[in-house]
Amino acid sequence: MPRHAARLTIDLAALQENWRLLDARAAPGVSGAVVKADAYGLGIEVAVPALWQAGCRTFFVAHISEAVRAREAAPEAEIFVLNGLCDDLSAYAAHHLAPVIGTRAEAADYAAFRATTNAPSPALHIDTGMNRLGMALQDGLDFLRAGGFQTLAPGLVMTHFVSAEIPGDAETTAQIEGFNQVADAIQRLHGLNPKPRLSLCNSSGLFVEAAPRHALSRPGYALYGGNPTPDAPNPMRSVITLEAPIIQIHAVPKGARVGYNSNFIATRESRIATLSCGYADGYPRNAGARPGAPGGRAKLAGRIVPFAGNVSMDLITLDITDVPVDAVKPGDMALLIGEELSVDAVGLAAKTTGYEILTNLGKRYERRVIGG
Ligand SMILES: *Cc1c(COP(=O)(O)O)cnc(C)c1O
Repeated sequence: MPRHAARLTIDLAALQENWRLLDARAAPGVSGAVVKADAYGLGIEVAVPALWQAGCRTFFVAHISEAVRAREAAPEAEIFVLNGLCDDLSAYAAHHLAPVIGTRAEAADYAAFRATTNAPSPALHIDTGMNRLGMALQDGLDFLRAGGFQTLAPGLVMTHFVSAEIPGDAETTAQIEGFNQVADAIQRLHGLNPKPRLSLCNSSGLFVEAAPRHALSRPGYALYGGNPTPDAPNPMRSVITLEAPIIQIHAVPKGARVGYNSNFIATRESRIATLSCGYADGYPRNAGARPGAPGGRAKLAGRIVPFAGNVSMDLITLDITDVPVDAVKPGDMALLIGEELSVDAVGLAAKTTGYEILTNLGKRYERRVIGG
């Protein structure tokens, strides 16, 4: 019986090597790992134990439900929940999870809760420009000077870069200056014992030379093989490989149309290979090819081949006319994401980012873990 499922291979040795590289860049501080969105699509249960084994002791997730899973996977880790306080505060104490506080109301609620429980000390998010989460810089400084830090006792104070991946971006410089003010104010504050650790850099931030490393960095994307320096070669190792089986090959005459809306019209006698993988698996429909817009690519028999027409729900069609007839047959696997077809390149072909490619990785894949 021919296989239907595409195969996603997750290389844990590459994940661990990436963490070690980022941890070295985080010196004199250390690197944590952001494992929100199910470890960027790889799976919390797969990624967290491997990162712990590599030496990572601090994890960041977005949702409390993800934090509970991360706790199962790393019983002794420090775990922060980025998206603020959830209604059921008891979860923080029960699973020893630290919320990232972003408003005075949250600070008051959590300080009151902590006074009666053994819930961990929280992080405080200071907003230096994203205008998304956290206390605005001036509000945060006022809160600190008015004694808010004594009441809340955050173990970590953090901010998040807006566009650290853009070399020389003025916003990055402004955010570094803003966070330096926070660092100075904390340094000068008496009676704050212990002083909170500071956390600034995401993946790309760790490649901004001028960004202070502070105690703890928070990379996500680069761990999973994404390029933190999009304008330069990728310093990270590729972590995921996606391969899909060819389920049919069609010989079509010049003028034949392929796929929904006939976005591919053969300009010569052509051969079309149909892969069992589509947008329902997370391969974006936006990566379809039309005249003038090349779209996605795959690798088959050692050659890079273009998509032919639209990506369907469960199928992708490739133009394999330039691949020797004997070199491919149904059942062969075509590479869709991997070393030469990076998540960044797939993101670009689909007019999005590699982040979205990773976090949409499908549930139908046969998932294989190697190197663990
Ligand atoms: C997602 C996130 C990160 C990780 O960012 P990457 O660009 O994936 O390295 C770090 N900090 C915060 C607050 C985040 O939301």
